Amino acid sequence: MNKAESERLGSYLEQLGYQPTASAGEADFVLLNSCVVRQSAESRVLNKLDAVKALKKSRPELTLAVTGCLVDSDFDQLRKSFPYVDHFFKAGDYPGWLEKGGVTPPLPLHPLPSTFVPIMQGCNNFCSYCIVPYRRGRERSRPLEEVVCEVKELVRRRVREAVLLGQNVDAYGHDLPHRPDLAQLLSELNSIDGLARIRFLTSHPRDMSPCLIEKVACLDKVCHEVSLPVQSGSNDILKAMRRGYSVEHYRQLIAKIRSRIPDVALSTDVIVGFPSESADQFQQTVSLLCELRFDIVHVAAYSPRPGTAACELEDNIPAFEKKRRLSEIEQLQEGIATQINRRLLGGMVEVLVEGKKDGKWWGRTRGGKLVFFSSGSNLLGRLVKVKITKTSPWSLQGRVNTS
Ligand code: SAM
Ligand code: SF4
Repeated sequence: MNKAESERLGSYLEQLGYQPTASAGEADFVLLNSCVVRQSAESRVLNKLDAVKALKKSRPELTLAVTGCLVDSDFDQLRKSFPYVDHFFKAGDYPGWLEKGGVTPPLPLHPLPSTFVPIMQGCNNFCSYCIVPYRRGRERSRPLEEVVCEVKELVRRRVREAVLLGQNVDAYGHDLPHRPDLAQLLSELNSIDGLARIRFLTSHPRDMSPCLIEKVACLDKVCHEVSLPVQSGSNDILKAMRRGYSVEHYRQLIAKIRSRIPDVALSTDVIVGFPSESADQFQQTVSLLCELRFDIVHVAAYSPRPGTAACELEDNIPAFEKKRRLSEIEQLQEGIATQINRRLLGGMVEVLVEGKKDGKWWGRTRGGKLVFFSSGSNLLGRLVKVKITKTSPWSLQGRVNTS
C-alpha cells in the first residue's frame, strides 16, 4: 500500500512541476512515506527523519513533509516531536496545501506493466496487535465505477496487470451505496480489453466468500493467487489476536479454494512470539504450515504497538526466542518452497515481463512466481512463454520460447 501511495504521490508532485532527484541532498522538497506496522519499520523512519533534520538545518529553504502511518490524529504532538517538519498528512490523503482546489488521487505518471490500484482505505477489524485501523481509519471503498475507469485509463497507458489493494479486500464495497463487492468488481474489470491480468490482496479468512472463490476460478484474467494471512495455528492465540476465525475454519477455507482452483498459489502471513505464545502453541503454527504447504509465508516477530489492545499484554517472549521461532519457520518454508517450485522444472509458464535486472528480463507467472530469463528483444510489457530450466525457493530461471 505504501509503495502504491508513494508512486502516486511522486506522480502528483511531478504534475505540480517537481522532478525526482538522485538524492535527498539535492532536493527542494522531501516527502517521507512512513510505515510503523512494526517497531523495526518505525525505527527506520525515525533514522531517516534524523538524517533529513540535518539537511533541513543546513538548508532551511528545504520543504519537508511526512505522511504514512507515523502520522496519527495528534498533529500538535507531531509538530512538537518533529518541529523541523513543515507538513504532516495522513496515509492515503493527498496534500491539498500543495495546490489549492480539488485534489483527486492522481494516476501514476509512469505506470509499469503491472500497477497497484488501491481500491479501499483503512480497516474495521481491530486485530489486537495491529496499528493499521488507528492510523488509516475505518474502511472506505472507492466507488466501483471510479476503479473501473481508472483501470481502463491505465490500460490505455499500456498497463497489462492491475493489482487491487486493500487491507481487507474482501470487505470491498460494504460501505458503498448498492453494496457492490469484490466479486462484482473483478467481473467488471475482467471485461476490459487489453487488460491481461488481475490480482488482489489481502483477503481475510473470515470474509472471503464462496462467490469470490468462484470468480477467481472462472474469470480468465484473474490470476490463481490468493493471499490469506492465518497469523497463528493456535485457536487460543487467534482468539487473543481477535482474528475472528478458528484454525478449523481456515483449514476448510483452504480446502474449498484448492478444490475449486487446483493450481492456486497461496501465500500467508504469520506472527511469532505473540504475548504468552507457548512452545506448544508455536508448534501448532509449524504443524499447520507443514500441513497446508503455502507457496509463500511472510513471517514477522510480534512487535508491541502502542495504543493496540495487545500492547496491554506483557510482551513476555524474549527477543532471542522470537528470533528462533522466526528462523524455524523461515527454514521450514524454504524447504517447502524448494519442493513446490521444483515441480515447475521443465514446464512452460506464462510470464508478464515487468523489467530488466542485471542483464536479464524478469516477470511473474500467473501464480506470482518471479522468473528471470535472457533475450535480446525488447519484451517489456509482453506476455511470453518461458521454459523453466532452474528453480530455487525464491525464483525461477528459464528460456524464452520463441516458437
Ligand atoms: N490485513 C492483513 C491481515 O489481515 O493480516 C495484513 C495487513 S498487516 C498491516 C500486514 C502484516 O503485518 C500482518 O499480516 C502481520 O503479520 C504483520 N503485523 C501487523 N502488526 C504486527 C505486529 N504488531 N507485530 C508483528 N507483525 C505485525
Ligand atoms: Fe490489521 Fe489486517 Fe487485522 Fe486489519 S485485518 S487490523 S489490517 S491485521
